[in-house]
Amino acid sequence: MDRPLLRQLPKMDALLACPAFTAAREELPYFALRDAARAELDALRQGILDGSVEALPEPDALAAAAVVRARTACRPHLRRVINGTGVVLHTNLGRAPMGEAAAKAVYETALGYSDLEYDIDAGRRGSRFDHVEPLLRSLTGAEAALAVNNNAAAVFLMLSALAAGKKVAISRGELVEIGGSFRVPEIMARSGAELVEVGTTNKTHLSDYRRAVEEQGAQILLKVHTSNFKLIGFTEEVPLADLTALGRELGVPVLHDLGSGALFTDPALGVPEGPTVEDSVKAGADVVCFSGDKLLGGPQAGIAIGRKDLIGAMKRDQFARVVRIDKLGLAALEATLRAYQDHAYAAAHIPVLAMLGASPAELERQARLRAGELAARLGDRCVLSAVPDVGEVGGGSLPGVELPTWVVELRPARMSVAALEKALRSWEVPIVGRVSHDRCLLDPRTLSAADWADITAALDAILP
Ligand SMILES: *Cc1c(COP(=O)(O)O)cnc(C)c1O
Repeated sequence: MDRPLLRQLPKMDALLACPAFTAAREELPYFALRDAARAELDALRQGILDGSVEALPEPDALAAAAVVRARTACRPHLRRVINGTGVVLHTNLGRAPMGEAAAKAVYETALGYSDLEYDIDAGRRGSRFDHVEPLLRSLTGAEAALAVNNNAAAVFLMLSALAAGKKVAISRGELVEIGGSFRVPEIMARSGAELVEVGTTNKTHLSDYRRAVEEQGAQILLKVHTSNFKLIGFTEEVPLADLTALGRELGVPVLHDLGSGALFTDPALGVPEGPTVEDSVKAGADVVCFSGDKLLGGPQAGIAIGRKDLIGAMKRDQFARVVRIDKLGLAALEATLRAYQDHAYAAAHIPVLAMLGASPAELERQARLRAGELAARLGDRCVLSAVPDVGEVGGGSLPGVELPTWVVELRPARMSVAALEKALRSWEVPIVGRVSHDRCLLDPRTLSAADWADITAALDAILP
């Protein structure tokens, strides 16, 4: 069989010399362009052989197609996603988006050198612990503070440094799984602490803790905030303040894994009510641990605050080196904490707090505005309306708290809701919404003006 087209295929070198390629060299690595050019040529060759290609494209068009292919191949695997779910702390979508100040601090720290472990005044080695400790002390009222890689690490370090070889009493109602196979009983076993279970799943009394210390030899009391579920009905747990009073009476320290660390609550500023770090300090906990990227709204980090001797023991523990916070996380954490020096400023500038604080009236206005704009653009391709709905905080924070909201409801005219959901998810910038009762819902709480522009362009391209 004669296949003259095969002989007319451009050579790799000729293709690589096309202007489209020379321009793309600035943007993309050579190997990616070369691989993409080879893939385009292979596809054409295959097409000629199976008869699906009957004429060759111009070399310039071929080169342009290869550049598009190379760009797709070089796209980062970790990508921006548009969160239309309204779940502010979505663990699968990276939990807390950071504020401008935190992002700038990361950028500047990443590009240059820093005094991470250098004491500028003394001209010698310094400590990475010094950058956020004074801020954490003044914001929480604690004597000492330590930041590590995440809260799971803070809990493990706390147990390893303070409870290894000791008996630790914890309520059966708090033997929880935090997620990703982080289970309190197993973490305790790994840290070398010995678990003494106290009370029952639904009820634990102060006298149960007393018996654990006096009769079973418990040397530490641990309280874990049940941050991803809510026990309702015939239940009882011991308030932290009662536990610390008992701890003082019997001479045993009380450790508190608070989980999501809200630094303050203020319904007038839209910051939802819930347990705060300061509450735990005031209630007398000897060490309190919490996350950096839950309600605090900062980077992934774990923070431990409390008695100077105990935090000191955690800093000196071998394991502290294993779980140390990196310079980028530290830069973001410091910038985040600085914003908290003024509550009104924090409520407006920490994105997590601003999103949680959006009022139903503001969300209704947004939902109506966006539904109107989309309807004008999409015409009869989709039925759009703004409807009231209920959202959640997410990310193991404030379980059971319902956030009244308004959402944009989409009912596509000529495709299924399932197909629309999938197409939005597969868009260049993936758009993740909610599907409920055969409607696709987008919640303005977690969407910026720029996100809405992307959503509009995507819907315009997707909807038949
Ligand atoms: C979320 C949570 C953790 C784990 O915190 P990370 O920062 O995700 O490591 C530990 N304990 C409790 C109670 C939590 O809610």
